[in-house]
Amino acid sequence: MGGRIFQNTTLGAIARDGTGFQLTVTDGKTIHANRVVLATGGYGGSETGPLARHILSIQTYIGVTAPIAADIRRAIKTDFAVGDTRRAGNYYRMLPDDRLLWGHGITTFGTHDAARIKTNTMRDFQRIYPSAAPDFEYGWAGNMAYAVHQMPLVGQLQPGLFALSGFGGHGMNTAPISAIVLAEALCGQSDRIKLFDAIPKPWNMGKAGPFAVEAQYCLLKMRDYLTERRG
Ligand SMILES: Cc1cc2nc3c(=O)[nH]c(=O)nc-3n(C[C@H](O)[C@H](O)[C@H](O)COP(=O)(O)OP(=O)(O)OC[C@H]3O[C@@H](n4cnc5c(N)ncnc54)[C@H](O)[C@@H]3O)c2cc1C
Repeated sequence: MGGRIFQNTTLGAIARDGTGFQLTVTDGKTIHANRVVLATGGYGGSETGPLARHILSIQTYIGVTAPIAADIRRAIKTDFAVGDTRRAGNYYRMLPDDRLLWGHGITTFGTHDAARIKTNTMRDFQRIYPSAAPDFEYGWAGNMAYAVHQMPLVGQLQPGLFALSGFGGHGMNTAPISAIVLAEALCGQSDRIKLFDAIPKPWNMGKAGPFAVEAQYCLLKMRDYLTERRG
């Protein structure tokens, strides 16, 4: 339909250019766009302009073991995903080839170092299964985009500049669904985008934001600890 796709192209800056925008991208090249949708998740930074005032980038982790020993498999008797009532909890499930996938952690000051992630994942695993020590072969971190109220930010930030972000740890379905709703609005096909108007776009507290997130997560862990002690 005449649209152009620029793959492997990093946005560096956005500037107003007449009625549209000039995007400075990889290698200093520029792209002109009439409208811009910022769908940069937890990886976007100051280049996202006004969106950067609303988004907190928060890391979380996954570890995956080698195919695991029969005794652990006996302890985890299901192929369903497992979570529990902890507020700052983890979640896990057996993969079809008998590897265990273990997700945990919420932090703004985390690490991308795979070795440290594997060690931390093992520590978290052993809080639940203290007598087992599977080999975590893989560990990785990913960034998630959160607004302070943990709701998505979808809609116009400034004339022609749109946000499609803030899906936190629940974006696998909600991000694409919201993208369809935004696309409908941009193409003049529906006004379902108005549903998002009820969601405010709060400030992310600037440099204090990450510290506030960290403090809140510590508080959740503390409450989990106290609940567990009470039995
Ligand atoms: C470990 C982990 C486990 C998760 N588990 C689940 C789950 O079980 N269920 C669930 O629903 N959600 C889960 N999530 C959250 C889910 O991945 C996100 O909510 C979802 O990916 C958000 O989609 P998005 O398109 O908004 O952002 P993303 O998927 O993060 O995509 C943003 C894209 O923008 C690109 N980008 C950023 N800045 C620039 C720039 N300047 N120039 C060019 N490109 C840029 C990034 O490279 C990235 O490709 C998990 C996240 C992590 C990290």
